[in-house]
Amino acid sequence: MSLIDRFVESHNLSKTEYVELLECRENEETARRLRDEAVRLRKQYYGNKVFTRGLIEFTNYCKNNCYYCGIRNGNRHATRYRLTEDEILACCQNGYTLGYRTFVLQGGEDPYYTDERMVKIIQRIKKEFPDCALTLSIGEKSYESYQLFRNAGADRYLLRHETADETLYRSLHPEVMSLEARKQCLYNLKELGYQVGAGFMVGAPGQTISHIAEDLLFLQDLQPQMVGIGPFIPHHDTIYAEERAGSVELTLFLLSVIRIMLPKVLLPATTALGTLDPRGREKGLSAGANVVMPNLSPVENRKLYELYDNKICTGEEAAECRGCLSKRVESIGYQLVTERGDALQ
Ligand code: SAH
Repeated sequence: MSLIDRFVESHNLSKTEYVELLECRENEETARRLRDEAVRLRKQYYGNKVFTRGLIEFTNYCKNNCYYCGIRNGNRHATRYRLTEDEILACCQNGYTLGYRTFVLQGGEDPYYTDERMVKIIQRIKKEFPDCALTLSIGEKSYESYQLFRNAGADRYLLRHETADETLYRSLHPEVMSLEARKQCLYNLKELGYQVGAGFMVGAPGQTISHIAEDLLFLQDLQPQMVGIGPFIPHHDTIYAEERAGSVELTLFLLSVIRIMLPKVLLPATTALGTLDPRGREKGLSAGANVVMPNLSPVENRKLYELYDNKICTGEEAAECRGCLSKRVESIGYQLVTERGDALQ
């Protein structure tokens, strides 16, 4: 039995087998077979539906210093902002009217938003929009904080593990951060009953095929309900300013691999993919992704939430974003839906 046949049948491989699979990424026949199987699975479980998540980038203050990230604490050139509770709620209201039934609160690790403030925001959103899911993406917190947020009504949590390789993790993050702590957060979130999203950057500086195989093994072990992967894109105010961006092709290949590994996974075609390729998000959906995460942040803040250079959709109103995406999605035979889009059991 060939490697691909075995993968398609068992949905999991060993590390050496993943390396072998990834080494065939430029073989068109391999890429096509994986893509066909990924699309077959996404259609089997989700038909032609594409779920939308309204992304609210509510603060770009961050106490961390991840070396690749444009909003890291050490970047003195970043203009910082935070949204008030009322501004966040106004984003949700706008999103609700447009058909969003999931809101994602994403931000740097901003100490201003204490547990108490977060709980208030979460409770208000869940009270005013009881038929919506709420996702948090605010980094590493204690078990107790995650518990408070969960009790307040948060449904999901996105925390990319960034890389599952200890050495690569060390080279991308300062000493005070650790892969072990990040992984522990993910296991804690799972235990607390969140729908959990992990993920990594494709083509992060220093990343090899073997590192990616580690990422796949970690995902296989964690069994997250969501996986966020997107190409690394350099930011001009980081030490990686001159590095090459990750590959669109490899990202698409990995989207298919992840769909096959976790057939029911909620898998976004990310903004970073759309930034590197004008039809990146459509290509992502055609490779097995089934989620898009348009921006609901106020237009004046979008450019300031600058994780990497040349981020798209920073000049559009939320309504235009939804309209534009809806057309893009329909152009490839899928449909944006007005649903929470929870993980299938
Ligand atoms: N503070 C939150 C949110 C981080 S920003 C947290 O720690 O989870 C969301 C994601 O953007 C990160 O997890 C990272 O994978 C991605 N990101 C950051 N810098 C990037 C870059 N230069 N290129 C591509 N993706 C990047």
